Amino acid sequence: MYNFFNFTSKKTSKFVIKMQIHKFGGGSLKNPQSIEQAIKIIKQRNNEPTLVVISAFAKTTNALENILYLARNDQDYQDELNKLKKFHLNITLQFFNDKNASIFDEIDQYFQQLEHALYNYKDWEYDIHYDATVSFGEILSTIIIHNVFDLYGLANIWLDAREVIITDTLHRDAIINWDLTNKMINEKVKPLLRDNNLIITQGFIGRSIDGYISTLGREGSDFSAAIFANCLNAECVTIWKDVPGIFNADPKIFDNAILLTHLNYKEAFELAYYGAKILHPKTIQPLEEKKIKLLIKNFLDPDTKGTLIDDYTTKDKHISSCIIKKNQVLISISPKDSLFISENDLSLILFIFSDFNIKINLMQTDAFHFHVCIDNNYFKITSLINRLNEKFNTEIKHNLFLVTFTHYKNAIFNILHNENIYIDQYNGNIRQCLTDSIIL
Ligand code: ASP
Ligand code: MG
Repeated sequence: MYNFFNFTSKKTSKFVIKMQIHKFGGGSLKNPQSIEQAIKIIKQRNNEPTLVVISAFAKTTNALENILYLARNDQDYQDELNKLKKFHLNITLQFFNDKNASIFDEIDQYFQQLEHALYNYKDWEYDIHYDATVSFGEILSTIIIHNVFDLYGLANIWLDAREVIITDTLHRDAIINWDLTNKMINEKVKPLLRDNNLIITQGFIGRSIDGYISTLGREGSDFSAAIFANCLNAECVTIWKDVPGIFNADPKIFDNAILLTHLNYKEAFELAYYGAKILHPKTIQPLEEKKIKLLIKNFLDPDTKGTLIDDYTTKDKHISSCIIKKNQVLISISPKDSLFISENDLSLILFIFSDFNIKINLMQTDAFHFHVCIDNNYFKITSLINRLNEKFNTEIKHNLFLVTFTHYKNAIFNILHNENIYIDQYNGNIRQCLTDSIIL
């Protein structure tokens, strides 16, 4: 067994590196101006070694998903692919006026590889093909940023995350193999950080243990930043967003939403878990484990404080948040062969959900039913219902809202009607209601 922690123990290692992680997402990096803003932010950082995690530019991941869909259905994807290439070239052209600069060759080569993967791996299982193609979004964005940063005097190393983030084979939602990832990051990234002040790498992507490209689930780049932070014992991770930080409700909907300047890890995890889009839920655990601070800051206003997430303190204010998840489906399940629902039924139902890898957002039993609330995911739901119907009767309601209040005692938003609440649960802290209409 390897001792993966040889270099990481703060007490014994000669190579303890104080370092920072910054993460920029597609919401921030979408045009040449925003890249200039990222340059400004990175130039202003303190001088500690820094690893920058980047996701695909703007809506590139969606565009690639669409191109993959066309390719697999033998439809013409060339126009869409050309559009995507043009988008990347146009950004690059704003920085490099010399069309012979090597960056243009690199972009060209990556698009050739992408096209090869789209066309030639069509008979691969969908999820594996998805990872092999959609991952190009992050490769392209980091190659461009790497070159542009260099041009602006930010000397940096381009790191291929596929060499160090090692996962299982659950493609599109891969699970990190922590032992191997730790080992690879210690062996490959630590030495780089000793000699270089700045590393640029991709979020979202990795490699499965059997050698195929894998991805960590949509919006997974925050999680990538946390993985690097954990393995490198970073001091702080800063996630740059196009909003001022985390609010206690969606500020686009609620005028009186409050910016949360401090959250403890548990509260931040809860917000992500219950559906606040600001953070990928998996981001918190690797940071909490090593007590690494997480800052959510405004990309357009870097001097404002944003939200700091770290350990629990006695000063925590327990501000109540309200999270609305739209497009929820309620499935009410009852056995075909008996009036009442038994433990065996429950066990089988949960097994089926786990087999489909479907996350349950809320559940409740009564004497006759098991009620389950899940996100609307059309393809999976049809086959899930078929499977459940082998043994159970199912009733389905669509288009529901799941409203979650944290620290419910301090709740300030009153958005529930009293009627048409299908499930209402309160555990002394969290209140969750499934309803078909809300007051906005
Ligand atoms: N580019 C990926 C996505 O759009 C990952 C990320 O943005 O975090 O889902
Ligand atoms: Mg994104």
